[in-house]
Amino acid sequence: MELTYTSDIQFISGVGPERAKSLRAIGIDTVKHLLNYYPRKYLDRTRILKIGNLRYAEGIVTVIGTVKKADVIKNRGRGGQRLQVFLEDGTGTMELTFFQGIPYLKTSFRVGEAFAVSGKLEQFGPRFSMIHPEYDHIQQEDDELKLINTGGIIPLYPTTDLLRKTGFDSRGFRRVMKKVFERLDLNSIPDTLSLSVREQFKVSDFSLSLKAIHHPGSNDELLSGLNRLKIEEILYFNLQMGLRKLRIQENEKGFTFTAEDQLVKKFYQSLPFQLTQGQISVLRDIRSDLKRSHPMNRLIQGDVGSGKTVVAMMAMLMAVDNGFQTAFMAPTEILAEQHYRTMLTYFQPLGLDVVLLTGSLKTASKNSGLGMIQSGMTRIVIGTHALIEDQVIFQNLGLIVVDEQHRFGVIQRAKLKQKGILPHVLVMSATPIPRTLSMTLYGDLEVSKITELPKGRQPIKTAIIFDKDRSQLFRTIREQIKRGRQAYFVYPLIEESEKLDLKAATDALEEIRAEFSDFQVGLLHGRLSSEEKEATMAAFKAGEVNILVSTTVIEVGVDVANASVMVIEHAERFGLAQLHQLRGRVGRGSEQSYCFLITSFKLSKDGKERLATMERTTDGFEIAEKDMEIRGAGDLYGTRQSGMPDLQLLDLVKDEPLVIQSRQISDFILKDDPHLRKPENRLLRDRVLSEPSDTLILNEIA
Ligand code: ADP
Ligand code: MG
Repeated sequence: MELTYTSDIQFISGVGPERAKSLRAIGIDTVKHLLNYYPRKYLDRTRILKIGNLRYAEGIVTVIGTVKKADVIKNRGRGGQRLQVFLEDGTGTMELTFFQGIPYLKTSFRVGEAFAVSGKLEQFGPRFSMIHPEYDHIQQEDDELKLINTGGIIPLYPTTDLLRKTGFDSRGFRRVMKKVFERLDLNSIPDTLSLSVREQFKVSDFSLSLKAIHHPGSNDELLSGLNRLKIEEILYFNLQMGLRKLRIQENEKGFTFTAEDQLVKKFYQSLPFQLTQGQISVLRDIRSDLKRSHPMNRLIQGDVGSGKTVVAMMAMLMAVDNGFQTAFMAPTEILAEQHYRTMLTYFQPLGLDVVLLTGSLKTASKNSGLGMIQSGMTRIVIGTHALIEDQVIFQNLGLIVVDEQHRFGVIQRAKLKQKGILPHVLVMSATPIPRTLSMTLYGDLEVSKITELPKGRQPIKTAIIFDKDRSQLFRTIREQIKRGRQAYFVYPLIEESEKLDLKAATDALEEIRAEFSDFQVGLLHGRLSSEEKEATMAAFKAGEVNILVSTTVIEVGVDVANASVMVIEHAERFGLAQLHQLRGRVGRGSEQSYCFLITSFKLSKDGKERLATMERTTDGFEIAEKDMEIRGAGDLYGTRQSGMPDLQLLDLVKDEPLVIQSRQISDFILKDDPHLRKPENRLLRDRVLSEPSDTLILNEIA
């Protein structure tokens, strides 16, 4: 009987009830599921060599020969035993060594039988040997080239104990896959990409790609199969984002902001500095968005310190000039309060009320804030997640701004948006995000970039300092403070954990107070009440506190231009993105700033690489790419919250050309068929709509 893509696994020959059960335990019920169980890596065994020609070389080689001798031998010294097999092929003899599975292997490697073995060559004494090679018993009727476990490109499959018990080790999977492809009707595998798209972008058929990754005939075949599947991994997400963007653009019911600038102008004149070219060009983008009849949906990407807040403030004033309310959402209370204070400073002189809304507000001030928002008495609202609570009702919300947007999920963004009727949306991200990731993750947004820092900023000098050189470091810091500068000391944790041996901020506070007894030292951490936090931040900002000892609560956004020293304790414990954010707290004025990464000698390889990267560059994008290279995209940058699919094959850094191609394919399809209504896109449409995603996105598409 022929197999089809949807056949149940019980129809595969060699899969009896017991094996079926172990497959079902990992969610494999059909041929389709089985084919979507991807190999985790491949071994290239295309090089079949004669023993007499073997040279010591890196890499895997394959040898075919007959068993001359197979003995179980006691290991000298360390006990236990091993199976030693001598294999000859007429040109020489080599040795195979096995430490595990000896009883079974002993019966397999019978003298006189032929085997193909693949593995890494080792050389002990005169003879070459392989330890635990992959092997294939060659029967007479077997054609050498048909070997499934050796002599070709060999897929290795992920497996579990349960699977292994029923014979599904890598060999078992390979055998089953072979059986499947012998009887599978490839035409029964639907291809979501139309023939014309496949031809246009030169991507393989889906069915052939599946065959290629499980049963590669050549390296080229494998590569094009993998490429197709990698492109596909983010294609549906790209399409979702693209559809979202199109629906927003089609919606003609947005507010058009056409009133003359009044507040905007006054604000602009009150600024103590000139805007950078980058800021001006982003403002131009925003201005033209706001004049259109569909809502703006724009991301401002700019490295730490590039001055995104001012741009947001001008956009907010455009809303107010047009009689609308505007809400600004920040991820932490400290940040919301800082923005609140900045905006008060600039907006109060313009005669504007500003309301702050955070979770820790006292009921009375919260209620009065809520009242001012609902009645429209205040046009400008700043807050944390507290803004998306049900009780917050706006009179006429025209623009929302989301700061440090990677800290929020799509759902939170969307919830705030629902507080208005199609308000304009401006999101800002300081976390430099690798280009390929932002291309995917922000596929629904228009993107503006601020590529330059304000004039007069000097690059921050960064140095790795070992614990023992602390006293010298303290001298440097003392000099800075004497010159009127301020310093941060950041610690990974607030309380000493016996096991981790971390210097906790509270303990450190004592040490630093003793060291700098002639200066004011403040403490900031997450457990303080918001009044305490606020008071400490205010004192630091005012210059009354010279040194701020803190946990990572100051990680994002905090802006004190006079601070020129950032000391990060146990720097090896932080990720790169975090280190970059923390370092971004200094270098915000015209003075030379310094970042000291304190660490011990005992560094992991990754830790070393992270710190070296920080020392080498201040370029946020370079740092982000390195970060993704070290850690993988995984859960970085809020990819999970965003609804982006788990990536099994695609590597956002290494596969950059494919990421770009996937996006191009998505754009191409939507340009031709913006609603995915054409018959050749029917499968694609079904697939896009069935992708797991939050319902808010789906509602916008449907
Ligand atoms: P970020 O982009 O990291 O959010 P901020 O908006 O906090 O950066 O700006 C960093 C600092 O730079 C602030 O103190 C801000 O007042 C200042 N700043 C912004 N734009 C300019 C400019 N064009 N010239 C000089 N200083 C600026
Ligand atoms: Mg900011």
